[in-house]
Amino acid sequence: MAAQTMEQLVSLCKRRGFIFPGSAVYGGLQGTYDYGPLGVELKNNLKLAWWRANVWEREDMEGIDAAILMNKLTWRYSGHEETFVDPMVDCKNCKMRWRADQISGKCPNCASTELTEPRPFNLMFKTQIGPVPDPESFSYLRPETAQGIFVNFKHVLDSTSRKLPFGIAQIGKAFRNEITPRNFIFRVREFEQMEIEFFVRPGEDEGWHKKWVEDRINWWLSVGLSRQNLEPYHQKPEELAHYAKATVDLLYRFPHGLEELEGIANRTDYDLGSHSKDQGALGLKARVSPNSHSTDKLTWFDPETKQHVVPFVIEPSAGVDRGVLALLSEAYAEEQVKPAPVDRLKPVEEALGTFLKSVGRNEKLPAQAKEALLAEGERIAHALGERLPSIAGLLSMPGAESIEVAKKLRGQVDPVVDEFYRTVLHFKPHLAPIKVAVLPLKKNHPEIVSTAKSIRRKLQSSGAMRIVYDDTGAIGKLYRRQDEIGTPFCITVDFDTLGEGKDAALANTVTVRHRDSMAQERVAISELETYLREKMQSGA
Ligand code: ATP
Repeated sequence: MAAQTMEQLVSLCKRRGFIFPGSAVYGGLQGTYDYGPLGVELKNNLKLAWWRANVWEREDMEGIDAAILMNKLTWRYSGHEETFVDPMVDCKNCKMRWRADQISGKCPNCASTELTEPRPFNLMFKTQIGPVPDPESFSYLRPETAQGIFVNFKHVLDSTSRKLPFGIAQIGKAFRNEITPRNFIFRVREFEQMEIEFFVRPGEDEGWHKKWVEDRINWWLSVGLSRQNLEPYHQKPEELAHYAKATVDLLYRFPHGLEELEGIANRTDYDLGSHSKDQGALGLKARVSPNSHSTDKLTWFDPETKQHVVPFVIEPSAGVDRGVLALLSEAYAEEQVKPAPVDRLKPVEEALGTFLKSVGRNEKLPAQAKEALLAEGERIAHALGERLPSIAGLLSMPGAESIEVAKKLRGQVDPVVDEFYRTVLHFKPHLAPIKVAVLPLKKNHPEIVSTAKSIRRKLQSSGAMRIVYDDTGAIGKLYRRQDEIGTPFCITVDFDTLGEGKDAALANTVTVRHRDSMAQERVAISELETYLREKMQSGA
């Protein structure tokens, strides 16, 4: 299980409406993606699962939703104006710009080694505030949601009468002018974060940091990521951000490699101290820049010791988009429903061979596209029996459309895939964009259709889950379509449901088909709601 290549996910996401490249009709805008009808459901479900676990189910957390635009002084005192920079280099040959730490002295585009010296590049998007183009009337689109929490620390404390330890959680958009956005929605310029700032007494920070690392790993497991794909990485002292006492990155095995999904940092009293007035009297442990603008002391008054305390902060900070990518990758599987006979595979094998030869000979294809097509094509050819459905992904890669024999290959592949394979997203039910699809066995039988539609309406009105009616194909095809988008249950209304089948006892029952096992069982319409609720809760 799990996706082998990013192409498999990109292709499925575009084809079925999870994620589209941003502004595509105008040639796109690099580093932006739009979530489609299924993507928005998946993303909302992920955010809801996070909010439920971290805000509703805990007794020590409050939520907020702060503005994206903040007074620019926030970014001066947070340190972002000065330090939110990546060293970058320009290629003197092709003029592309790269992050110095991500290339090894060679331009990934044209392979030239003629690069400029690394220079700092601020990742914040600057934006004009108000109608007058005054050089001082600007701010930035927030590059993280965290600062909205710190500047609201006192508001939340005063309005909720919280005591330490407690946390504030927030989900929202963040913007970074990434130099080299890439790997689909992994590194983008506009993304969402799910962040917690957890405030603790100094001295209790290390214990809480450890607890949060465990907690966050367990949560990612609860949404379906597997332990072997998740790795905690303890940053070395020389890797730590200037404000951090310790940071553990949770790395996930994405199709492009093992990379950061979430960071959990012990930020000491740096943030609250930085945004406070009267810093000298606070006994701060962190080194902060003098603040001459803040109007408040961001402290908690300890009624027992009668002292003002600047709490230490533990920050679990996760990317929503990276979370969505991890869920998709983990859930993705191409499965053989039954083995395809050799005589059906042979023509596909030949057509794939012809396609790859034609790619190899094509002189107009850019070198990078050619290399990627050949590599992916050969990977598939190597284990054709298991990988045959990946040919759809191969054919949607850049350059594939310009190869004439591509159409012939698709013509060979599609019927074999339809008959012997399925692509499945094995999402946990609570994350699946659609929970139940109600399908009529015959779409031109008025009674079957009206019964199916009324089941859909009734189920939809009773639960906070998305339920659809689908009659756009024969039943086998409809099951495959729902498997491919991760719908855990399909309900089929047939002649037995109407009492017109051979077994009169089946009247008023429907077939429930399970996505993962493909098993089918008969359930009374009157029991459906309870049945589905129980299955959904048990994660089956
Ligand atoms: P990286 O080293 O990958 O650039 P980071 O360490 O700068 O990430 P943080 O500042 O710790 O990231 O942000 C917290 C989380 O926000 C990250 O773990 C990631 O999930 C998400 N995130 C950060 N930058 C991006 C981006 N450009 N696109 C998508 N998600 C991002």
